Amino acid sequence: FAGGIMLMANFQGSSINHMIEVEYRVRDDERWRWVQCRGRVMDRDEQNRPVRALGTHLDVTQRKLSESERRATQRKLEKLTAQLPSVVFQLRRRADGLYAMPYANPALGTLCGVDPLAVRDQADAFFAVIVPADREECLASLEHSSCHLQSWRMEFRIVNPLGEIRWMLGHASPEKDLDGSVLWHGYLNDISERKAHEDDLVKQASTDGLTGLANRRSWLVHANRELTRCRRYPDEADCAVVMLDIDHFKRVNDSHGHAVGDQVLQELARRMQAGLRETDCLGRMGGEEFAILLPQTSQDGACLFAERLCRKIAGVPFATEAGALVVTISLGVSQMQSDDASVDCALARADGALYAAKSGGRNRVEAAVRPVVAGLQPA
Ligand code: GH3
Ligand code: MG
Ligand code: MG
Repeated sequence: FAGGIMLMANFQGSSINHMIEVEYRVRDDERWRWVQCRGRVMDRDEQNRPVRALGTHLDVTQRKLSESERRATQRKLEKLTAQLPSVVFQLRRRADGLYAMPYANPALGTLCGVDPLAVRDQADAFFAVIVPADREECLASLEHSSCHLQSWRMEFRIVNPLGEIRWMLGHASPEKDLDGSVLWHGYLNDISERKAHEDDLVKQASTDGLTGLANRRSWLVHANRELTRCRRYPDEADCAVVMLDIDHFKRVNDSHGHAVGDQVLQELARRMQAGLRETDCLGRMGGEEFAILLPQTSQDGACLFAERLCRKIAGVPFATEAGALVVTISLGVSQMQSDDASVDCALARADGALYAAKSGGRNRVEAAVRPVVAGLQPA
């Protein structure tokens, strides 16, 4: 019907340029066929009535059918992906290195706060929500995937529409297009919960449950890192180790019970932690024994630190459910040596000094005997 009106307008000379291009349906037996009509009125009489028109009629039924099939496929894709909790996307890296996201489902908006239409021709708005620390690695991994046509897999963080940091897993397969661009098809999943769970597990494996301090294993990891530094910079990197043990702790347990003993351990951990620098590392080595790693600290400096700590613990009684208890500790100080075979060497020296502090009367600090430096003779 619309096509008929346009035809009439053309005959009456009121259509633009007197040209016509119109598509309409005509009945062919039992079927409707689509006809594309193109043409113009060539001659008119003196009352401007059309006398002669020239043009073509083309059967475009097949094209019309393919178009409607394409629209149906598009609708189907949109319906299938509308409810997905993950982002499904196409990403294109053009030959000039620019990225575009020709298709992404609405989850790109809900998860990342990026409108799929805004990144159809230019993917910048998508890369902008990736946290800066991960963005470069993300781009580098895409470059690698496009160069080698290997599947892309990457865990990275984004800032979501609520301003929260979320972990995403991206996975996509690349293919080379005729124009030299690379096109990926893939998905993005929010893996924040899994990441948080993994972090918890790592934390649990490295912390002591009672005090929240580093456990022996993770303290040794820190200490080994420091030993490596001492070896690399033997003239610059000082690092001290302090071992300490509660005096007569068995009496606390025996007189007041294990729960009170636990409270003493927790309060001791809190007090010691409060006086540390960020680079120091306090660990519970087992039972009522603790170790403190003091990077950038000489043995003399560590002794001063240990004396202060000793007085701080003994000076103020511990509040427990059994009342206020005076608690004292004994401490042994040693220094890491760049030629120590392992951290155990420094620990053994500190332990020897701790033993000397115990036998010397407890509630005191002893330093390990300094190794003799070759070439230096006592005066
Ligand atoms: P010393 O001054 O020689 O160190 O005497 P001590 O009594 O502290 O010595 P010892 O090492 O023999 O005793 C340590 C006690 O610490 C024994 C153990 O029952 C107790 N202990 C170890 N771990 C815990 C714990 O997690 N909680 C409690 N409450 N007690 C613990
Ligand atoms: Mg003890
Ligand atoms: Mg002990």
